[in-house]
Amino acid sequence: MLGPVILAASRSDKMRRFVSAAPGTKQVVDRFIAGETVDQVVTVIEDAAGRGLELTLDVVGEDITTPEQAAAARDAYLELIDRLKDLGLGTRAEMSVKLSMFGQALPSPTATLDGAASGPAGTLLGGHDLALANVRPVVEAAAAIGTTVTLDAEDHTTLDSMFAIHEELRKDHPETGCVIQAYLFRTEEDARRLAAAGSRVRIVKGAYKEPASVAYQDKAEIDKAYVRILRILMEGEGYPMIGSHDPRLIAIAQELGRKAGRKPDDYEFQMLYGIRTDEQTRLAAEGHRMRVYTAYGTDWYGYFMRRLAEKPANLLFFGRSILTK
Ligand code: FAD
Repeated sequence: MLGPVILAASRSDKMRRFVSAAPGTKQVVDRFIAGETVDQVVTVIEDAAGRGLELTLDVVGEDITTPEQAAAARDAYLELIDRLKDLGLGTRAEMSVKLSMFGQALPSPTATLDGAASGPAGTLLGGHDLALANVRPVVEAAAAIGTTVTLDAEDHTTLDSMFAIHEELRKDHPETGCVIQAYLFRTEEDARRLAAAGSRVRIVKGAYKEPASVAYQDKAEIDKAYVRILRILMEGEGYPMIGSHDPRLIAIAQELGRKAGRKPDDYEFQMLYGIRTDEQTRLAAEGHRMRVYTAYGTDWYGYFMRRLAEKPANLLFFGRSILTK
């Protein structure tokens, strides 16, 4: 029952201020967030690469309110891609982006322009178009160093826009990936459409607070849906990316992959930085491609709260660390 309460708190400014200022927060945040700057995260990137793990990097931040912040998010990814190029790690790390951070939720008429976010003949861009204009240079820069971008899935109201942007980006960069969420009723149909040759699709359970009108609420129902979708992806022609720490689902994915005649590198596993790290190393040692979703940056609140909501025991750990400070 705690999960939905924590997810509701993740949208509250008051809670954001309280959690950010609480003594002991940093200690818990550090478990899930690899650092605040590109410089800090470089060590983590090099260490993971040295252990045979691949990465998908997420510059945290989602609740932006101005086009300037959206442009800054774009620039943060471009800076990151430059660093990966300098490090020669372009082929071992891809990017995960949240379109909300690129301006997807901004209202069109009030949005003003800057640089690459401008449309044809100086039209004002906002919302969907602004997010597309901001993400495109990131996808192009990633492709130039031999890597890719995956569009994260946010709450269900954003998904039609996300899939439309994904389709648009794939015209020039078919390797651009996207995420689908097993808890949503719509996802089996999305999976069927996306399981085509050349596609890269990450399947996850889903991390947002969604109403019963659009999403399964019961964990067992979500797991069953996850398996049905896994089957569609594994039997399809695309490249499935299995985002989960759930040992049962990982074993089922391996079995479905084997039955579909896939070799271990015809799909990949993905887990979050700081969660089940032994299992990450074990799967990589078994010959699987294991990609660690590594989040960094200063605006960690929303990402952090979703990690607390997934496992309420984390809240206990968090509470203890506040009390012992
Ligand atoms: P669970 O049943 O939640 O967890 C299985 C086990 O993993 C738990 O028993 C526990 O041991 C461990 N575990 C799981 N979560 C935690 C945690 N926070 N802290 C400590 N231990 C934990 N969701 C979206 O909605 N959109 C996205 O774009 C998205 N991208 C993701 C990318 C990756 C690579 C991953 C791994 C997840 C992503 N998620 C995303 C989150 C996802 O939807 C789930 O909320 C999350 O993965 C927990 O589900 P699970 O499959 O690990 O299973």
